[in-house]
This record gives sequence, C-alpha cells and structure tokens, in this order.
Amino acid sequence: MDADVIVIGAGVAGLRCARVLEDAGLRVLTVDAGQSVGGRIRSSRIDGFICDWGLMTVNPQMPAVHRWVDLSRLDLHFPLAALLVRRTDGPQLFGDPRRVPRLLPSMVRSRMISAADLTALARWSSSGLVGGRVLDSDNDTTLLASLDEFRVRGALREELLLPVLSAMLADSSGTTSAAYAKWVLHSILAGTPGLPAGGMQALPELLASQLRDPVRLEVHASAVLETGGGVEVQTWGDTLRARKAVVAVSPEAVNQLLPVRRPRMQGVVTWWFRTPSAPFSLPVFALDGRGPIGPVWTAVEVTSFAPSYAPPDSHLVAAKTLLDRFDGRASVRVVRRHLAAIYGVPTDDWEVVAHFELPNAVPTHRPPLSDRQQVRIWDDVYVAGDHRKTGSIHGAMVSGQRAAEAVLVDLGIIGALPRRRRALPELYPLQPAASDPAAT
Ligand SMILES: Cc1cc2nc3c(=O)[nH]c(=O)nc-3n(C[C@H](O)[C@H](O)[C@H](O)COP(=O)(O)OP(=O)(O)OC[C@H]3O[C@@H](n4cnc5c(N)ncnc54)[C@H](O)[C@@H]3O)c2cc1C
Repeated sequence: MDADVIVIGAGVAGLRCARVLEDAGLRVLTVDAGQSVGGRIRSSRIDGFICDWGLMTVNPQMPAVHRWVDLSRLDLHFPLAALLVRRTDGPQLFGDPRRVPRLLPSMVRSRMISAADLTALARWSSSGLVGGRVLDSDNDTTLLASLDEFRVRGALREELLLPVLSAMLADSSGTTSAAYAKWVLHSILAGTPGLPAGGMQALPELLASQLRDPVRLEVHASAVLETGGGVEVQTWGDTLRARKAVVAVSPEAVNQLLPVRRPRMQGVVTWWFRTPSAPFSLPVFALDGRGPIGPVWTAVEVTSFAPSYAPPDSHLVAAKTLLDRFDGRASVRVVRRHLAAIYGVPTDDWEVVAHFELPNAVPTHRPPLSDRQQVRIWDDVYVAGDHRKTGSIHGAMVSGQRAAEAVLVDLGIIGALPRRRRALPELYPLQPAASDPAAT
C-alpha cells in the first residue's frame, strides 16, 4: 500500500481533507495534476505585480476559514466595508453603517434607500433562515422570483443588491438559488473580505505546508478502481494503492473518475491593469449601479489596500467580467471604457498586465439549493469539492472535512456522526470581524 488514503486534488477541499486524515494518524498521499497546489486559487507574478487568476478574496468570518486557517500567517489586508456605486447622477459611496458610520449621512442624502426598501430587504434576507442555516431549500426559488415575492424593490435592489450579488455569484441572470444568494449576502454583512499580502495562492500554500507529507505534484489520476479490500488509483505512469481514496478534483474533471454528474459551471474573466495613478481616493470595490450596461461587474484598485501586489508607487486595478453575458469576448477597449465610466477617470493608458479567462470558475447553484450532497460514492471511494457544497472557499473546505469524517467513521477511527451533524455553523456571526480594520 502506498498510503492509508489517497487524496486526489490539492485544491482547498483536498488539502482540508488530507489535514483531517493526517491529524487522525493516517498515512495520506495527496496528489495533484498541476504544477502547484491551490487548484482554482492561483496567483501569477508578472513584472513585480501579483495577479490572482480570479478577483477573489478571503473572508475571515467564513466559518471554515475562521476555524481551520491560521489567518495570522496570511497577513491579510482589507479594503473599507464600502462600495463605490456609479449612479446616473454620479458616484455614490455606500457602506455598512456599523463598520463605516461616517458614510451614513451621504447615504441618507442620496435617497438611494428608503425605509420600506430596507425593511423588505431585511425580511427577505432573514426568511428561510433557522438557527443561522439556510434551511428552506424545499421552498427555494430563483433570486429574482424571491425578491419579487418579498417586494424588494427600488434603487436598493437594482443599483446595489443585484449588481453586488451578480458579481459575487458570477451570474447576472437572477436564476441562482435565492437561498444561496442570501447566504452570500450574509457573508458580506458578517465580515470584510481581504487579500493575503503574498496573493491568494498563499492560502492553499499555507494549508499544504501544514501537511506532514508533501503534496505530490504533476500526478494526473486517470482512473479510480475498487479492488475489494482497497482502491487503485491509476495515474499517467503509475498505479497507487490505498485503503481508501477521496476524489477532490476540479468539478469539470470529477465525472472522468466517478459516476457522478458533471456540475454545471459559470465562467469569469479577470483583468489586471497597471494604472498611472489611483482611480479613486478610497480602498473600496466599485461597480456600476445603472443596470445591465456591462461588461465589468466589479473592480478594485488592489494596491489601495494591498500594496504588496505591485512594485512601490505602482497601481494595480483588477476588474471582473462574466462569461455568461458577453461570452467572455469583451475586448480590452470595451472593458477600459466601462471602467472609465465607473471611476469617472480616463483609462486609455491603463496597461493590461494579465487577463485570465476561467470558463469553469464556480458551480452554478440553481434552486432548490442542494448543499449537502452524497460524500461516499462506493465503499472505499469518496468525493469532495466545492461542487458538493457551495462554490466558495468555505464550501470547498467543509466538503473536504465531511469526506474525511466519512473515511474516519468507515475505518472505525471515530464514531458515527449524527445524520445531520454540522461541522460548522452555515452562516457567519453577524458582527464585524475582529481583524477587520474598518471595525475600529
Ligand atoms: C474567478 C474565481 C473567483 C472566486 N472568488 C471567490 C471568492 O472571492 N471567495 C470564495 O470563497 N471563493 C471564491 N471562488 C471559489 C473558490 O475559489 C473555489 O470554490 C475553491 O477554490 C474550490 O476548491 P476545490 O478544492 O473544490 O477545487 P479546485 O480548486 O478546482 O481543486 C481541484 C484540484 O484537482 C486537481 N485535479 C483535477 N483533475 C485531476 C486529476 N485527474 N488528477 C489529479 N489532480 C487533478 C486540480 O489540478 C486542482 O488543483 C472563486 C473562484 C474563481 C475561479
């Protein structure tokens, strides 16, 4: 036997799974087809700039991140808990009044939000939540239908909520599960997401560095077979044997190894621009609230709060476009023009440092939300990955934890877990993160 358990895939799901199994005293062999760990969480260093493959962030209030990641070693940097929203009559700063109270007077003056709209939003966002968990997946419907049902209307819906959620869900159609959309909204309200000083890939690298046995890279699994008494993992060039295997590969590859349906995925494009000056005076994410103008769904000058992303005195702006609306073919000219409209500054001299097109960025979550999918596929073969839970770092890590727990139960190392036991609360404590500088 090469190990007690072979974990295939060293994204955050596989890395969390391997850690739990190792902590239980098992010999774990983690393999990955790639040249580095992290899967979809990748960063490239280009001419002194750090460009993550996606405009992604770490939310320290995500329960899985909070509990299982040594955040002190990531050196996280945070923007303000606020957004620059481009409206027809000009830019408006909109922030969480608990964390950035100084924005409150201008928000009130803007008349962007009425008391009735806020009440409707509060009713909508808390509906279906019991004990902090999105339980109501039986009555789940699409985001748009659910907002209509709760009469969430007006500028709050059109100029703020829908653009923010579209960017975060990587879906502007409004057909994502309302239950999942609420989960995402709660995550934003609970804590400001930030960036590690060394780039997003620092997160999986940290998880990998804490494993006893290093991840074996450039090992591509081509088949997983049960042999009666164990498993065989065929790779390009070798056959590995173990008592159990956990398949934690990318969603688009999972059905090549297991008899499960290939998850439907949504695509995202991330643009990185070097800019001659800061496009805005505050470290905030920006978006266009004027309806579906596109193609940019959100943008931020990352160097305004994470200066290590660029050489000294340089400015780096990231912008996210979606593959669902413009087929990913939005030209740089169109992206620049839209960024000029959002920021109200000329962008002709913004130079593209990098551009990443990821057609398989995150799984779709259509209603009804199904975030507790089967973990054991055969007697000795298990599956993990964000597509089994939710398309997030939290979802991926929880899925890895659940797969590891199932292995430990089946090996008799821990007792059977109650059927509906939850490793973690599903939603965040609704309070600012202690590490959130905007909280002070
Ligand atoms: C553009 C973008 C933005 C995002 N933004 C956020 C965000 O802001 N916040 C957030 O929480 N989440 C975000 N996410 C989602 C988050 O990154 C993912 O949910 C999470 O990283 C998925 O981890 P995973 O381990 O499930 O899968 P993956 O990261 O896909 O890992 C799977 C691994 O399996 C390996 N593999 C595949 N096939 C084989 C094979 N045959 N043999 C061996 N190895 C194989 C791959 O090389 C890969 O390393 C974003 C994702 C993208 C793409």
